[in-house]
Amino acid sequence: MTDGRALARQYLEQQRLLGGDAVPLSDSRTVGQSDTQALRAPTPAAPVPAQPSDRQTVRPSDIVEALPPAGLSFDPPSDDLFSTDPIQRAADLEAIARLVADCTKCRLCEHRTNTVPGEGPADARLVVVGEGPGRTEDETGRPFVGQAGQLLTKILGAIELKREQVFICNVVKCRPPENRTPQYDEVAACVPYLFRQIDLLKPKVILAMGNAAAQTVLNTKQSLGALRNRVHRFRGIPVIVTYHPAALLRNPNWKRPTWDDVRIARRLLDG
Ligand code: URA
Ligand code: SF4
Repeated sequence: MTDGRALARQYLEQQRLLGGDAVPLSDSRTVGQSDTQALRAPTPAAPVPAQPSDRQTVRPSDIVEALPPAGLSFDPPSDDLFSTDPIQRAADLEAIARLVADCTKCRLCEHRTNTVPGEGPADARLVVVGEGPGRTEDETGRPFVGQAGQLLTKILGAIELKREQVFICNVVKCRPPENRTPQYDEVAACVPYLFRQIDLLKPKVILAMGNAAAQTVLNTKQSLGALRNRVHRFRGIPVIVTYHPAALLRNPNWKRPTWDDVRIARRLLDG
């Protein structure tokens, strides 16, 4: 894609996927309305109410399965070229994992059996972020391998993703005692690893599962309920927020909304 117009169209389409308004271009095809959507858009029986201008616009109700609106956007400072911080200088995911293996930056290092840096291909298009390792993860050094992990594998399967295609990780890389929620200072100590992993991976979509992941990735204290059903962004990357699989094991009523959320992630991956 070389000409500016095509690039602009691509950009606007991306904005639409992120929940922005449709933007009409002068050739009368509205970006924000794909060809199939255009075909499916109902023809109004009555004259369309007057628009502020003569531009063709698409009302959200006309778009079949519109993506949810744009939500929070968080752009933490990224590394600078001359940083001496080893995390910022880590050149690949293996280098991050080596740093994590030796890390003693917070008290969670004291009781760990293994660190759990995360795993998946370097070219993964989806990054899944959980809260922190549980018992099985601590024992094996691998993320989401216990009961919640098995459910995550099923959830990914439902949107036609194999676990091996996805990068799976957590906010904290060492198991909190008794699986308690990681504390604020523990998250603060550990989050540079996650942010660097995302920097290196450059995924197309991030799926934040549970309060801890959602609040950390979006730098907010808002609850999961308030954050769901929006397309947020982290350094420009779309972020979808949903329930943690461990919560689904406790409350099966959340399976349906989780399914809705991951379908949004799927559509963003396909977009
Ligand atoms: N729960 C998490 O948040 N992460 C894991 O890796 C396993 C369970
Ligand atoms: Fe280091 Fe993170 Fe483990 Fe704390 S949880 S010791 S910051 S790797």
